[in-house]
Amino acid sequence: MNKRTFLRLFAAVIGSPVISPLLTWASNEKLKNWAGNLEYSTDRLYAADSLELARSYIRNHSQLKVLGTRHCFNNIADSTHSFLSLSPMDKVVALDAAAHTVTIDGGMTYGQLCPYLHSKGFALHNLASLPHISVAGACSTATHGSGEKNGNLATAVSALEIVTAAGDLVKLSHQQGGEEFRGTVVGLGALGAITKVTLDIQPTYMMRQYVYEDLPLSALKDHFDAIESSAYSVSLFTDWQNQRVNEVWIKSREEKGQMFDATPEFFGAKLATKNLHPIAELSAENCTEQMGVPGPWYERLPHFRMGFTPSAGKELQSEYFVPRQHAVEAILAVERLRDRVSPHLMISEIRAIAADNLWLSPCYKQPCVTIHFTWKQDWPAVKNLLPVIERELTPFNARPHWGKLFTTPPAELKRIYEKLPDFVQLSKRYDPQCKFRNQFLDTNIFG
Ligand SMILES: Cc1cc2nc3c(=O)[nH]c(=O)nc-3n(C[C@H](O)[C@H](O)[C@H](O)COP(=O)(O)OP(=O)(O)OC[C@H]3O[C@@H](n4cnc5c(N)ncnc54)[C@H](O)[C@@H]3O)c2cc1C
Repeated sequence: MNKRTFLRLFAAVIGSPVISPLLTWASNEKLKNWAGNLEYSTDRLYAADSLELARSYIRNHSQLKVLGTRHCFNNIADSTHSFLSLSPMDKVVALDAAAHTVTIDGGMTYGQLCPYLHSKGFALHNLASLPHISVAGACSTATHGSGEKNGNLATAVSALEIVTAAGDLVKLSHQQGGEEFRGTVVGLGALGAITKVTLDIQPTYMMRQYVYEDLPLSALKDHFDAIESSAYSVSLFTDWQNQRVNEVWIKSREEKGQMFDATPEFFGAKLATKNLHPIAELSAENCTEQMGVPGPWYERLPHFRMGFTPSAGKELQSEYFVPRQHAVEAILAVERLRDRVSPHLMISEIRAIAADNLWLSPCYKQPCVTIHFTWKQDWPAVKNLLPVIERELTPFNARPHWGKLFTTPPAELKRIYEKLPDFVQLSKRYDPQCKFRNQFLDTNIFG
């Protein structure tokens, strides 16, 4: 089943007046993740269109996983028993203009939320490379965009409503929840079903996006900090070939003092003369507008446009967070592996993220740089390569992206996440019967 089929069938089922709001997945095709590299271990998918149905479903099942928009590449969302989808719960619950917050249902995507926010004069601080993903799933896995002053997407969460394993409703907020709140936001789906999310918002803003081509690796090495601080959001795309960064994507806010001066040259790279895809051979039609054309924040912060396939489609992804102070050393360590990496790679991306205080965020108490790999869909080859990359990045305490493919041993995760034991205790309180556990959690968190 491809992405479109999933959405079409799902919408058709939901639209039917004769079917109960608690629905069963019915399709001849196997249920897979977005990239199609993972066939989930069960097809039993139920969708709840109300809080009461979600609570009742959770109460009455001994094992389940909440499924978001299925954009993770690993088995973090997998279940051998059943899935609960909250995608019919996709509404804005409240916009509090005075408090600068918006509260949304647990099934809403950024693609649904952002145009609404903009129409009301508001914006989010940042977005990932694509708007197609659910807010709850993205925050649960510490999904991030770029910009050295921007925390990952979960840092915008100011309150959560969670249905625990017993079907109880827990409400936590930044102001009142203290450490427990900081433990729940990046929850990896282990604590319960997030049925409402409140996000911090700010007045809407306009942006411009510029792309430069062929940044010499030597310039990156010598001017890394200046390059990263040159605009609100900076992304570096490289295939690790020819000692260069293929494309530098610069996203600049229009406000006074924040505007990027798009000179024809940028540290030796040349301003592009047409829109580009990060993977140069692919059509830029799927990408957000570049060439300095002004547009609202939600049509410039992601690389890929809503309504179009993001990235390449048939692919795999891995990503490692490295503490900012080790960025250049870590980038050069990966560059030395270019001959092993390149045959399997579509493109790599390097981004910067601010530190935060969320227990399982890879940026917990440390600003980070991420080194991302979009791989050809050849898992046996990638699986052999990941330990090689991870070995090179171990001296920098690299933390893998929770939603992408990695082979970092559980003992290493325990070593590099100081709050992991606290998270285990928290999970036991929310889910004493291990209802929301799966193989991913058993191996990487509870092993
Ligand atoms: C093309 C592409 C581009 C990407 N770009 C980026 C990027 O720029 N930056 C980045 O950091 N990542 C990126 N990712 C990874 C990715 O988007 C996420 O990790 C992702 O958003 C997960 O959200 P989801 O809704 O798809 O969750 P799923 O994959 O469906 O589930 C992930 C986890 O979240 C839990 N979950 C989902 N919804 C809920 C809920 N309501 N309550 C409780 N738990 C829930 C699940 O149980 C599971 O544990 C990309 C992925 C793809 C496919």
